[in-house]
Amino acid sequence: SVTYSSGNWLPFTDNLKNNHAHQLHLITQLTNDIQQEALYFDIQPQVDLLTRQIIGGEVLVRWNNDKLGQVSPAEFIPLAEQTGLIYKLTDLLLEKVFQWAHQHPHALLNKRLSINISALDLLQEDFAHRVSLLIQRHRLSPQTFTIEITETSVFQNNAIVHDNVKQLHQAGFKLAIDDFGVGYSSMQNLVALQTDELKIDQFFIMSLLEDAQSQILCRNMIDLSKALNIISVAEGIESEGILQLLQDWHCQVGQGYHLYRPMSPADYLALLNKKVPPL
Ligand code: C2E
Ligand code: CA
Ligand code: CA
Ligand code: CA
Repeated sequence: SVTYSSGNWLPFTDNLKNNHAHQLHLITQLTNDIQQEALYFDIQPQVDLLTRQIIGGEVLVRWNNDKLGQVSPAEFIPLAEQTGLIYKLTDLLLEKVFQWAHQHPHALLNKRLSINISALDLLQEDFAHRVSLLIQRHRLSPQTFTIEITETSVFQNNAIVHDNVKQLHQAGFKLAIDDFGVGYSSMQNLVALQTDELKIDQFFIMSLLEDAQSQILCRNMIDLSKALNIISVAEGIESEGILQLLQDWHCQVGQGYHLYRPMSPADYLALLNKKVPPL
């Protein structure tokens, strides 16, 4: 049972207050920096696990604030979702990524680029339409872009979400379900949303060498994708041992610190140009 002795209570409320003040500070700064279009992005290369060649990369948002320093998206994306800032953030990111892709066409030559969007974005009725217009305006081909979404409770039979996904598909975008195997991910959605790609949650990949259950679940997710003709992607690959295991199981695409860390778009371009032999 919980006891509210003053010794426990005071530090607890102190923490709460600090936390609350900290969050307000974050929100104020984030609002301002989105307004100033100061957010930017890194790209983490993704490799074909059979050949270990780079097949493209995942765009990851970055925020470096004057007062707060570098803040992790794991911290500010949930805040952006809670405050409605996410819509502007997504628009800003899409604009920046498409602009960059337009300026560096060889970054997308035989390569794809994955972009994360929030499930909340898909609740906006005109989302797919706006993204299609935006990509047309930058004269890019949707076929080279994969949109990554994490399933949430929002997905349960939501007509707006399903319409948006259908329209994005019709426009030519690919669709990936992120963080599969935890939370709300469902097999029904995999099929109903005509998913092109399944990203196995890092949690399973990271515990692969120690945890027999992760092995079973991971193998089954790979086999399931194969049976449904969906590309399987493993992220969070931090060792050669894990890479080998995933290769043995015929997981198709890999991502992780053992292969490449997220890097600036300039470094990504340099990497593509170097044509370094794979690991
Ligand atoms: P995510 O989409 O699952 O992205 C993968 C995260 O794992 C990234 O963290 C990446 O840097 C990290 N990672 C990749 N390989 C490894 C590895 O081998 N070991 C470890 N420990 N970590 C690895 P990051 O960049 O901090 O992003 C965190 C989350 O924030 C993302 O998880 C995604 O949910 C969200 N996010 C990032 N960028 C965006 C964005 O542009 N829009 C939205 N809506 N969400 C984003
Ligand atoms: Ca992702
Ligand atoms: Ca993920
Ligand atoms: Ca995630």
